[in-house]
Amino acid sequence: MQSDLPLRNTMPPASSAPAALLPTGEVLLIVDDDTPTRLLLRGVLSRQGFVVIEASDGMEALALFTQHHPALVLLDVMMPVLDGFATCVQMRALDQDAGTPLIMLTGANDLKAIDHAFSAGATDFITKPINWTLLTQRVRYALRSGQLGREVRRSHLRQLSACRIAKLAFWEWRLSDDSLHWSDDLYAVLGVASPAVAWLGELLALVHPDDRTRVQRLLTLTRQANTPLELELRVRTAGEERLVRLVGERGVQGADQAVVFGAVQDVTALRQTEALVDYLALHDDLTDLPNRRLFLRRSAEVLSTLDLDDGEVLLIIWLDIARFHRHNEALGEAGGDLLLTRLARRLRRLVVVQDALARVGGDEFALLIRAATLAAGLDRLESILVQLRRRFHLAADETILTFSVGVAVAPEHGTDPNQLLMLAQDAQRLARSQARAVLVAIPLPPSQSRFTETLAVERALHTALERGEFFLVYQPQMELRTGTIVGVEALLRWQHPTLGVVPPVRFIPLLENLGLISEVGQWVLEEACRQAQRWESVGLNLRVGINLSPRQFLEPNLFATIQQVIAETGVQPAHLELEITESLAMQDPTSAITLLGRLRAIGLKIAIDDFGIGHSSLEYLLRFPIDTIKIDRTFVTNITHAQADRVIVRAVTAIGQTMGLSVIAEGVETLRQCDFIEALGVHEIQGYLIGKPMAAAQLETLIAEFVRPGADLALSD
Ligand code: C2E
Ligand code: CA
Ligand code: CA
Repeated sequence: MQSDLPLRNTMPPASSAPAALLPTGEVLLIVDDDTPTRLLLRGVLSRQGFVVIEASDGMEALALFTQHHPALVLLDVMMPVLDGFATCVQMRALDQDAGTPLIMLTGANDLKAIDHAFSAGATDFITKPINWTLLTQRVRYALRSGQLGREVRRSHLRQLSACRIAKLAFWEWRLSDDSLHWSDDLYAVLGVASPAVAWLGELLALVHPDDRTRVQRLLTLTRQANTPLELELRVRTAGEERLVRLVGERGVQGADQAVVFGAVQDVTALRQTEALVDYLALHDDLTDLPNRRLFLRRSAEVLSTLDLDDGEVLLIIWLDIARFHRHNEALGEAGGDLLLTRLARRLRRLVVVQDALARVGGDEFALLIRAATLAAGLDRLESILVQLRRRFHLAADETILTFSVGVAVAPEHGTDPNQLLMLAQDAQRLARSQARAVLVAIPLPPSQSRFTETLAVERALHTALERGEFFLVYQPQMELRTGTIVGVEALLRWQHPTLGVVPPVRFIPLLENLGLISEVGQWVLEEACRQAQRWESVGLNLRVGINLSPRQFLEPNLFATIQQVIAETGVQPAHLELEITESLAMQDPTSAITLLGRLRAIGLKIAIDDFGIGHSSLEYLLRFPIDTIKIDRTFVTNITHAQADRVIVRAVTAIGQTMGLSVIAEGVETLRQCDFIEALGVHEIQGYLIGKPMAAAQLETLIAEFVRPGADLALSD
């Protein structure tokens, strides 16, 4: 029997063991001062394929334990030097893996010893005399559960560090008493320990005051309507503001305890990086123009608002610089880059508000023109091309660029922006191969009838002002913090004798082209000021937003005109906010800055309109004296499901906050959009949720009866 057992305290290499006894690699330590027992144990266990090492007293056992890290220890109770209990206690202390099975060999019916064994840290016990069949089963079982225990502990540790890294904690909200229970990681997420937020009220106290009503409303929704909870909110703890994301779901705990289980995560840093990444992802870094993605999004937006019944069209244009590589060779790479930047700048100056622009390739640009007819659109394109063909001055060089241009037309060629853009690109390639400047994708039948209609509309516009066909409507703007109407935007309408009420996107470009915009713009200014003054006189404290068209803004006597209108109407300048568009403000930054400064000096407010889709470099924005940023509707529309739009809005609000500007989101149509918008830190909203543009009298009724949408969902406290 002795001969086929490994030598005491030595571990035979696997190859030297007979095939039947192949060690499993698991080392067992047997500790017993009784040599026959030890030998028997060793015999039985090594036949099972274990590698057995032995010690005859506690001290020896501890040395082997530290040296070999056995997978399991069998430990006799009665031993000289150090008895089994003391050895067990010390082994547990040494046990790095925390959970190595320690099985004690006790006398049968020695209940005290069994008790003692467990309190010393033993995993299990086996009574003497040993039942050998049972022994191997017990050993295997202990090894397996030890292994499982280690895995559970390891994955728990992994989970803990994952939570720590992700700044994630778990929580439970008991609806019966509003008590909150948190996992240990709460401190890392909120900067406070769980006892400090044991009740819902204590959590709400940490929430930023501006977010509190919204948070309460959403919690109520979850409580009353079982709606899953998902929100981002600002919390202030330890003198720091953090943005945390709270998610949860209704569940049941125990007999009839309704609870909400959830997670909370600190997303401050995440959102900051996302915002930056996303801005970069939507803009070309050389020219700062929108890229293809943003262009397509903008096109989809414009396409959805196209008035098809009236024959309105959208031109999607692909513009390619002819033989750009030649210029690059001549100017060097830096010179080529400069040329592209200059071209982008010029293009920017040429697009009007409703046109979009993007750099879609190295020397390729895309352009969107919305027009009443194809002919009118092509006219606009031609006038843009005329400007683009003018020379560029680069240091010592003068460069003239030529282009090949492809055009796709919606709705004739479809309404999918991506398809249209590809079609335009195909047309451009064809144009280049045929040495033609501009090619419309598919020859279209001459739309003579539409053209004459445009002419008729244009003629009618000339007389619209004197016939008193223009009127203003006002769209309310609500401050989120107070839930009150604090301002309106004045929007122009044209009551055409036969066409009915024409929306401004259809006639403002025409007014601009016809040179009528200044006259009409002045009328808008006067009418809006008269209305603002009327509201003042009845004690209504409303800020009135007035849109300035690009042409109007560039007029040399704009400042004098405004001053005069203010004097004549007697309106308080502080109640007026002029809305200008990014592209417009960027045209001539230096004089724009001067003009805006003068307007603000007499008390007017300035808002940047349609912010986010445009082209402004942030640096410009920092230099512009403005009061308000109006976030374009495009971003609000998808806010509830498009992460990219969310991060842009957050980036804009962050910029606004840093610069002390007020931020208004346009086009808020639903409560859900409103919740998201509010969470992102926006101050005011404008949109159908609050009210459509309406007559002044109607607006007064709205204000008198106004209840914040969704207010009925808020908690009473
Ligand atoms: P804008 O300055 O961006 O005005 C906001 C537009 O969004 C308005 O369209 C408004 O009716 C619409 N809108 C507001 N809330 C919502 C919403 O929740 N959902 C949707 N789908 N749309 C919403 P409107 O009145 O057709 O004006 C279009 C544009 O015409 C204005 O865009 C502005 O650029 C220009 N405009 C309007 N009035 C004037 C004016 O008096 N002078 C000048 N120069 N431009 C004006
Ligand atoms: Ca506006
Ligand atoms: Ca706008």
